[in-house]
Amino acid sequence: MIIKKPPIVSILGHIDHGKTTLLDYIRKSKLALKEAGGITQRIGAYEIDYKGEKITFIDTPGHQAFYTLRERGINISDVSILVIAADEGVKDQTLEIINYLKISKIPFIIALNKIDKKEADPSRVISQLIELEVIPERWGGDIPLIEVSAYTGQGVDDLLETIIILRDIYDLKVEINKKGKGYIVESFKDPKRGFLASAIVIEGEVKYGDFLITKSAFCKIKIFEDDIGEKLEKAYPSKPILVGNFNNLPLVGESFEISNDKDISKIQQSLKEQENNQIKKIIFLDEKARADYLLIIKADNIGSLEALNLVFKKISEDNNLNLKILKADIGPVTFEDLKLAKDLNAFLISFNLKNSKQILEEIKNLNLHKKFFDSRIIYQIEQDFVNFISKKEEIESLKGELEVLAVFNQTKSKKTIGGRMLKGKLSLNQKITILRNKELVGYGKIISLEKNKNPVKEINEKELSGLIIETNTEIKEADIIKGV
Ligand code: GDP
Repeated sequence: MIIKKPPIVSILGHIDHGKTTLLDYIRKSKLALKEAGGITQRIGAYEIDYKGEKITFIDTPGHQAFYTLRERGINISDVSILVIAADEGVKDQTLEIINYLKISKIPFIIALNKIDKKEADPSRVISQLIELEVIPERWGGDIPLIEVSAYTGQGVDDLLETIIILRDIYDLKVEINKKGKGYIVESFKDPKRGFLASAIVIEGEVKYGDFLITKSAFCKIKIFEDDIGEKLEKAYPSKPILVGNFNNLPLVGESFEISNDKDISKIQQSLKEQENNQIKKIIFLDEKARADYLLIIKADNIGSLEALNLVFKKISEDNNLNLKILKADIGPVTFEDLKLAKDLNAFLISFNLKNSKQILEEIKNLNLHKKFFDSRIIYQIEQDFVNFISKKEEIESLKGELEVLAVFNQTKSKKTIGGRMLKGKLSLNQKITILRNKELVGYGKIISLEKNKNPVKEINEKELSGLIIETNTEIKEADIIKGV
């Protein structure tokens, strides 16, 4: 039987932006009824009931289990909430997380927190986000943004509602009539009850008396509870569970499977192999590669390497290039990497790393700097690389700009305007930004372009033109429409 999957939600964000406070608020406000009599136990995740729908929250931001999984390129959350304090805005960690969310393609919601504070400045945060190409729904994009206060609870119901909506939009479903699988979240030794672990069920069912097997431990489930200490008979996907007692301490982040005692060693072996494969999958070395472009990629962890791998695969497909990754490895750039890059005339990509001064100097000495792309933002690396290969730098300086002279008609999603080209050129179907007093106010696309009332594909410097722009942003006279 296939059911709608209760979404597993992770809350991410820069330190002090309110993740813990928000998690506590949700837990307290939505557990109250169920909890009467029960004692909550912290098992790394909790489940709430919102209007009859279950939602699981991973309750420790930056939890080791999820970090370990991320390093192996595994994500178990169905939806993420990116908490940004409305008074502080986008910070270093926010950037990193945005980057991670874009790559991993996890649906996410922005919770603009601390909205109760008088210093809160949502519009500033929104322009920061737009600059990062994270466009909230209200601005014509597809990212839900909700103003919340983890103190007063303002906006929290909207947030929960949006999680359910995303679950439905992404049509998250799961099979339950099969043997359960999932991940260990925490493990510990209880003086009375022995080796216990908390876990999250990802698919199938887990029953009392089943054998729960990980690569390093197993148990016949005799202790089986939920996050409020209630005894369980069965658990379905997304359920946080506490199980025991194990023969050994299972490791945080390892996967489990359900079976019978005969299969224990077979399953343990296959789980070991699966994990090794996850790690090996993206580390490959092909020194003899012949290609238009050779790459050496260095990054902070396996997840990043995997993401970069995908980015370059896409670039090579989009641009019809023969691109080969010569080496993909974790850790800062080494002298060996430089030698390889020099000898084979390869590109050197460094993602989210701190490279030493000596290395950076040597890159200059060896004249490798033009083919060295170093950033903490994958998107930046992608852009720089694409610019390099297609010499887009020249085009960049010619990005078309049109001044709006008249606004003829505005519907919610389409604006008919007239204007004069100030510089460069604009083309039909081109994506544009809308600037007002040099500030970015919106995004859109040119869906109709006319010169002297005749449809054209392109308009050039100094020409007058009539345009229809697809955008939800109101356009005003004197705005600048700029090509992207
Ligand atoms: P975390 O590091 O992201 O988990 O942040 P915390 O939840 O520990 O919050 C950091 C600080 O911000 C604490 O002093 C909280 O009391 C405060 N805080 C969190 N949410 C809000 C909010 O909605 N409004 C206000 N005014 N303060 C908040």
